[in-house]
Parts: sequence; structure tokens; C-alpha cells
Amino acid sequence: MNIQETVRHVKNKSDFQRPHDLVGTTGGGNLFVFTGPSGVGKGTVREQLLLQVPSLVRSVSVTTRAQRPGEQEGVHYFFLSVEQFEQMRAANQLMEWAEFADCYYGTPKQWVENQLSAGVDVLLEIEVQGAKQIMQRFPGAVLIFVSPPSFESLRERLVRRNTETSEKIALRLAKAQQELREKYLFHYEVVNDNIEEAVLNLAYIVYAERCRIRTSSGEPKL
Ligand code: 5GP
Repeated sequence: MNIQETVRHVKNKSDFQRPHDLVGTTGGGNLFVFTGPSGVGKGTVREQLLLQVPSLVRSVSVTTRAQRPGEQEGVHYFFLSVEQFEQMRAANQLMEWAEFADCYYGTPKQWVENQLSAGVDVLLEIEVQGAKQIMQRFPGAVLIFVSPPSFESLRERLVRRNTETSEKIALRLAKAQQELREKYLFHYEVVNDNIEEAVLNLAYIVYAERCRIRTSSGEPKL
């Protein structure tokens, strides 16, 4: 079976193996978190995964970062002022948040909670500090660290992407070094060397987790 056939095969199986159809589970959706350094290709694998895996939605984050050319409000991010972000944070409307490369990023809480309680699986693509907050607050969340094949490949990717000044790239690389040391905190590692393979591994993780038996609070059984 080639990769496409395998994905199709597993996809069909998942139609009747959603956790909320199984006796003894919570009826809630699964929370999947992609984390890893900036420039590793989390966004690209996320989009490919969403195309391939049914019944998986992604949360749109809020950020104070400037909008890049081609980015759309409400699609890529909700772009906020620092004041607006601070208001959301003070009103406890964020599930997690972090300061990254001099900007704030956060996950709107209400939307994600609504999806999960409706039994929909949600995907967050966030940096490492935020992923650690999710890990503490949502013990049932599945945390996947997306790694680069090498540190050099990360540098090349950030330079090639050409969305940041060289000063900002240096900041992101320094942060990446720190983040790579923290991968052992998470549940899975997927190396993004070949995109097709990375997406396939991620799809397998999603399908495996959908079949996992959980406790009544949504936590995976040992
Ligand atoms: P970028 O500015 O390149 O879009 O994103 C910078 C970093 O922020 C990436 O690692 C991205 O995954 C992360 N990020 C995006 N949204 C969120 C969020 O809601 N919370 C956290 N903690 N990080 C986020």
C-alpha cells in the first residue's frame, strides 16, 4: 500500500472509530498540540494534515505581531493591538499565551472549548511555552513536537522564508536552540525532513489517539 492509499484506508476506518462513539469515553473531542521551533514547518504540515484528516479543526490564534503580506484576518490570525491582547488576557479569555520574538500570541479559550465539548477534535499550533501551559492545564491533551532534521536546516528555512529581518531571525534561532532542548517534555516527536512522511506520521498519531481509551476526565489511561 502506498502512502496515499494508507491514508485513505485509515481515514475510512476513523469514520466509525471516533472516541465519542465508544462506550466509556468522555464524549469530548481530542486536543492536539503541535509545537516546535519557528521555521520548522509546523504551519505547512498542519495545513496538509487538515486536508487529509477528517473531523479535525484548527484554532485561529490572536497575536500582536504585524500582519505579513498575504495573511488574512481571522484566517491566519486575529491581529490585535497590545491593549486588546492584554484585555483578553485579563478577562481570562485565553487558554494559553506567550511572548515570542517581542510579540504576544494566544489561543482563544471559548471557541476551543465549544468545539471540544461538541466532540470535535481541535489542533493548536503554538510555540513551546504555550504548549507547556496546555500540558499542565489539560492533562488529556496530546502534545507533538515537530523537529527540524538539523539546526542548520532551520536557519536555512528561516532565511529562505524571507518574512523576518536578520535581527528577528537571530532572535528566533536563539529561541529555537532553547526549545529543542525541551522536546523531551512532550508525547511525540515528528521530524519534518520529508513533508509527506511527516504528515503521514502525524495522521497516524491522530488516528491512534482517537482509538485510545480515556478516563472519564478525558485523560489517557496508562
Ligand atoms: P509566526 O509569527 O511565525 O506566525 O509564529 C511564531 C510562533 O508563534 C510559532 O512558533 C507559532 O507556532 C507560535 N504561535 C502561533 N500562535 C500561537 C498561540 O496562540 N500561542 C502560542 N503560545 N504560540 C503561538
